[in-house]
Amino acid sequence: MSRRILITGASIAGTCAAWWLTRHGFDVTVVEKAPAFRDGGQNVDVRGAGHEVIRRMGLEAAVKARNTGERGSVWVDEDNEILARFDADELGDDGPTADLEILRGDLARLLYDGVAARAAFRFGDHVTAIRHIGDEASVTFKSGRTEAYDIVIVAEGVGSATRELVFPGENQPRWMDITMAYFSIPKGENDGELGRWYNATGGRGVLVRPGPDGMTHAFLTLQAHGEQDWSPAQQKAYMRERFEDAGWETPRILDGMMASEDFYFDVLRQVKMPRWSSGRVVLLGDAAWCATPLAGIGTTLALTGAYVLAGELSRSDSPARAFHAYDRLMRPFVEDGQGVPKFAPKLLNPRSRTGLAILRAVMRVLGLPGVREAASALLTGKTKDIVLPDYAGDEGVVSTRLSAT
Ligand SMILES: Cc1cc2nc3c(=O)[nH]c(=O)nc-3n(C[C@H](O)[C@H](O)[C@H](O)COP(=O)(O)OP(=O)(O)OC[C@H]3O[C@@H](n4cnc5c(N)ncnc54)[C@H](O)[C@@H]3O)c2cc1C
Repeated sequence: MSRRILITGASIAGTCAAWWLTRHGFDVTVVEKAPAFRDGGQNVDVRGAGHEVIRRMGLEAAVKARNTGERGSVWVDEDNEILARFDADELGDDGPTADLEILRGDLARLLYDGVAARAAFRFGDHVTAIRHIGDEASVTFKSGRTEAYDIVIVAEGVGSATRELVFPGENQPRWMDITMAYFSIPKGENDGELGRWYNATGGRGVLVRPGPDGMTHAFLTLQAHGEQDWSPAQQKAYMRERFEDAGWETPRILDGMMASEDFYFDVLRQVKMPRWSSGRVVLLGDAAWCATPLAGIGTTLALTGAYVLAGELSRSDSPARAFHAYDRLMRPFVEDGQGVPKFAPKLLNPRSRTGLAILRAVMRVLGLPGVREAASALLTGKTKDIVLPDYAGDEGVVSTRLSAT
């Protein structure tokens, strides 16, 4: 198969695909819209097949060395009294704390460093048009260049503009009626090795988690539909107003939010695409199937999808056949990961005082010995795993077969 590949988006999916494709001998260019590599982001989980991909890349030790240090999670009330506790040592990869916990920026940086010298990275540019001419995709960029590629991989995240160019109107987003904000704040006196979850009425949740950087990583969850297009200042003001009277340690978390420089705002919606490829263009990662952070599997899907797409391209004599095999392998895994029932976030973020009292009573039961193993599957949204194929030319990296769970 011809070997010039363009990847748009240099985050988890894009850099991981570039990593594998260059190892399979493809000639890869990565175009990222941001003016420089994006380091930000808070704690993400890597589980199951995603963990196996990291192992096959020989990056497991490096990821573990940057582990966030989280030893488990607790649910607390406004007095910081523990309602339920889930320890990582006891629950392993099935608990709310995964075996591989890393900051998104640290993981993206590890992937980028492993491929920066092998692929051509261009920052501050993006695709404005794609035309199929014969067996090629003719791609025009904002910078004015036009270039020919054999394959274009779109890994631009949930709001992908190139997806809308190539597949206009095909995404049927599933809005989750939840808005989240993530940011880093200075460590407080109660912040330790446990993630702490707190709920307040009005569908509000606050989570603080440790990081390897000495900072606390904060997450605000709100049962409401914010606006993705607001400026960061508007987004911060919106969250501040909504959480001002939430109690517990929220005031210092909001102060930290206002000063934070890595603030990330997400109006949660799943991407639902009936197909992931058209001609020479294929979607990958959140651009293809965003499951939202509620599913806890976005990073795992991005890594696994990148590995499978690169592997199928390496062993197929036609892009269409490779895209078909990629779809067949990934779709059941994706659909399972997207299967978060819409009521689940509502139950976990109740609006009324009664709802909150019920949630807290339930958490006390879920945290009991003997119950918490089953409860943690519920809280992590545990999903099916896939059996990762072995692809020839995995160039000396470990090649063990994952057993299905
Ligand atoms: C800066 C940042 C911080 C994040 N923080 C968190 C977090 O704290 N918690 C969490 O759960 N998830 C976070 N995410 C999302 C998380 O990385 C993804 O859900 C998941 O890892 C799947 O990754 P992805 O590579 O498919 O998409 P994304 O990680 O969303 O990456 C998409 C990439 O494409 C780039 N891009 C967008 N449009 C274009 C375009 N037209 N042309 C070229 N490039 C484009 C973006 O700048 C970005 O680098 C964050 C993403 C980013 C970019």
